[in-house]
Parts: sequence; structure tokens; C-alpha cells
Amino acid sequence: MSEHMKREAVLRPLIFETGSPESRCIESPALDIPDVDISSVLGGFARAQQPHLPHVTEVEIARHYEHLASVNFGVDSGFYPLGSCTMKYNPRIDEWACRLPGFAGAHPYQPAETVQGALGLMWGLQEALGEISGLPAVSLQPAAGAHGELTALMAIRAYHVANGDVRARVIIPDSAHGTNPATVAMCGYSVTQVPSNERGGVDLEALKAALDTDVAAIMLTNPNTLGLFEENISEINRLVHEVGALAFCDGANLNAILGRARPGDMGFDAMHINLHKTFATPHGGGGPGAGPVCVTEALAEFLPGPVIARDSDGSFMPVTPSRSIGRVKSFLGNFGVLVRAYTYICALGAEGIRDVAEQAVLSANYLKERLRGTYDLAYDRTCMHEFVLSGERQRKQHGVRTLDMAKRLLDHGVHPPTVYFPLIVHEAIMIEPTETESLEVLDGFVDAMLAIAAEVEADPEMLHAAPYTTPVRRLDEAAAVKQPDLAWKPAE
Ligand SMILES: *Cc1c(COP(=O)(O)O)cnc(C)c1O
Repeated sequence: MSEHMKREAVLRPLIFETGSPESRCIESPALDIPDVDISSVLGGFARAQQPHLPHVTEVEIARHYEHLASVNFGVDSGFYPLGSCTMKYNPRIDEWACRLPGFAGAHPYQPAETVQGALGLMWGLQEALGEISGLPAVSLQPAAGAHGELTALMAIRAYHVANGDVRARVIIPDSAHGTNPATVAMCGYSVTQVPSNERGGVDLEALKAALDTDVAAIMLTNPNTLGLFEENISEINRLVHEVGALAFCDGANLNAILGRARPGDMGFDAMHINLHKTFATPHGGGGPGAGPVCVTEALAEFLPGPVIARDSDGSFMPVTPSRSIGRVKSFLGNFGVLVRAYTYICALGAEGIRDVAEQAVLSANYLKERLRGTYDLAYDRTCMHEFVLSGERQRKQHGVRTLDMAKRLLDHGVHPPTVYFPLIVHEAIMIEPTETESLEVLDGFVDAMLAIAAEVEADPEMLHAAPYTTPVRRLDEAAAVKQPDLAWKPAE
């Protein structure tokens, strides 16, 4: 047994099981207004019993949350190479900026002339994202990547409809993120899938066969979900435009090409950007994000409103584009996320932004080269910000699955990479180190991966029961999805 197998973690009681009925955090002052029987107002909707709230002291609450934070794994606790997610460190200055009272305390109903600073920031972010993407018209409204995809495809549909052009299909490569086909279905189009070629790019012959005037758009991720730059991107977008279709770039992987290449220059008509991946908003817990959409001038009038415009006198105003698809989000979007992104971009500047991409790509290629041989590469090419290994050999030779190896990484203090995605790679392990990790951290990860590969050969049985050091061990993942039990219930 290795040393990682010795420590059995102890689960602490839930907060409901802590404290005593007399414990209090605060003492409310005595009521100085008449007591009202609320059930006379609420009728049948009044609760029959008091809610089961924990009775704890302030120190017990403090320790409860401190403990929860300590068993939670985040970018601030360790290496988090979750492919396709860009789990990079989020600089504290961005958190500082979005908490400034003028930003955090602004009310969405305030008249525009009283929030010129906030609107000016949004305008500046639109300009910056337009420059970075090469697609000048920008809406900051969508609240997530998938939401941005939907918004862009709705704008593309509105464009075709405005041209009296009825089209039914959208083309997506088989390496795509699951949100792409979901977006297509929600827009009322049907999906035509094209296969990848042996280099991990779009199979051009299959694409040509799929293209005709029934195609509304192609949705392409570049770099794609294999971490590979689409070598034929100009040709692909030329073919797409030839049949009157438009090209959408899933920009979730923008981190890899920041300041080096622009989707607009590659011939794309629209893209979404995941601010919570590329532009430093903490994510992973399902918190607020933002998926701005950038489009060509031809699509600008279809963007959701409001977008921020600058008047000739220099003032900023929310305006609705002339043939807007309408609102996709209340008020002005997830403003706090926009402040973080703008701060991040300003703090780094043009050169710093380019450094991000270069470091991210360098880190990924370093890991790929150090793990080559021990693990099989799904596609043996220079990668961008991430790369995909296959655990198929370990499964065939030793009966150890990628899932087992991923779980074992937890014992090494590393958040496992993305596994079993993209779907076209058997036993996929998708690693994205990001630009914010030092060489020491990257080497530590390689050491862990090499140690696990040795364990696969020496003691495959042991890996089936990993992890050994986490508060909970191997969970029933199917049951966790199908029958989630998330609510604590008091003992009767
Ligand atoms: C993360 C991701 C998305 C979806 O973004 P969300 O903000 O999670 O909705 C779409 N495409 C790719 C390639 C992604 O990695």
C-alpha cells in the first residue's frame, strides 16, 4: 500500500446536527409593533410548523463554513487541469474591482445619466471583445456559453428569415461540445454531424457532401475540443459561405489564441466568448457567468438589446438594435462578471493578453511531451491549450479505466482532468493546465501521472477503489444524477 492509502478522512456532522435548541447567533430585540397572526394573511399557504433551522452560535457557523471551504477543491487550493473549462487562477484585482461600491451598489433601474461609469465600462468591454475577436458588434447580455450559442444562432436565424431564406440544418463536427447540438435543437434546426479526420480536424470531403442551400450555419470550435487548431479553417468557412450559410465559432477555447489569432479573420460571422473561462470569473460551482456574442456588421442589427452605444457627446446609452431578436437577459446582463473581464483585460494590456495564450499553449505542450509514451496520445500533433490522452491501453492491458486513474489523482491532491470527453476518443483524459501554473506544479502533476501509471501495472486492483483520502470515497455517479438526494430531513 502506498502512503496515500493510509489516511481515512472523517466526515463532520451537518450543521443541522450541531448546536442545541438554546444556541443563538443573534438575539432579536423584543417586538415593538403589534403581533400579527400571519396565517390570517396567508390562508392555506401558511406553514403548519416552524421551519427546521439549525440552532448554532456564531462560532459554530464560522467553523461550519470554514470546514466546508476546506473540503471543497478549487483553483485556489490546487492544480485544476479540467480540460475544456480553462480553470485558471482568477487575479484578486478583478474581485476587488467588481466589489467597488459604485459598481456593486448600482441599481439596474437607475437612469443612464447616473450610471455613466458602469455603462462606459460595458462599452469599453464591447470594444475590447470586438477587437480581440475580430467581430466588431458585441452584445454582453448572455449569461453563459450555452446562452451565447443560442443567442448567436437566433441572430443567424433572424438574418436568414430577414432575407426570406428558409433553411433547416446546422452542421456540427463530431468533436463538438454537447451544448452545440442542444442549441441547434432549441433553435428549431436539425443537426447534421460531420466526422473528424485522422488529424482531429473537420473531414473536408464529408463537409462538402453535407453542404447545400438547406444549411443555415456551421458551429465550429476553434481550437476544437481536442485542443487542436483547425488547419483548414479558411477553406471551411469559404465553403460554408459559398452555399449562403453563416459560420459560428464556439469561442469557449479562446484562451489558446488570445491576441494571436482572431475568429473574425478566420472568416467566422459570429462567436460567443465565455468570460468565466477566458476572462477571469471564478466558475465551476454554477455561479454567474457571461457569454457575450460578437458578430459581423451584417449581423449587428439582429443582436439582442440593449447594447451600449456612445453618443457624439461622449455619453453612453443602452440602445436596442433595429431588428433585434429581443432580450435574452434581464437588465444589462451579469454586470459583476463584465467588470471582472474588463479589469482583467486592462490589467494585462494587449501584450499581456497575448502572453496568456502563449503560456497556456506552452504549458499544455510541455505536459503532453512529458506524458507521451507513458500514456497514449489521441492525436499526435502540436496542441493548443489542451490535449487529449487515451487510457484505452491501460484498460485493455490491466483492466484499469480512465475513471480509476482520475479518481486516484484525488489522492495526489490534484483535481482530475476532464474524462470521457470528447466522445470520439476512447477512455479520454483531457488536460488543460492553463497559463497560471508554475513549472513546479506542472512537474508535480507529471510525477503524479507517472506514479499512477506505475500503479496501474503493479496493483491494478488498488486503483478500482480509489480515492482513499477524500471525505467521501467512490460515489455511485449514476444514482447521484438520477436520484439526487440533496435535502436534509429532520428525524421524525
Ligand atoms: C464550456 C463550454 C461551453 C458552454 O459554456 P457554459 O458557460 O458552460 O454554458 C460550450 N462549448 C465549449 C467547447 C465549452 O468548453
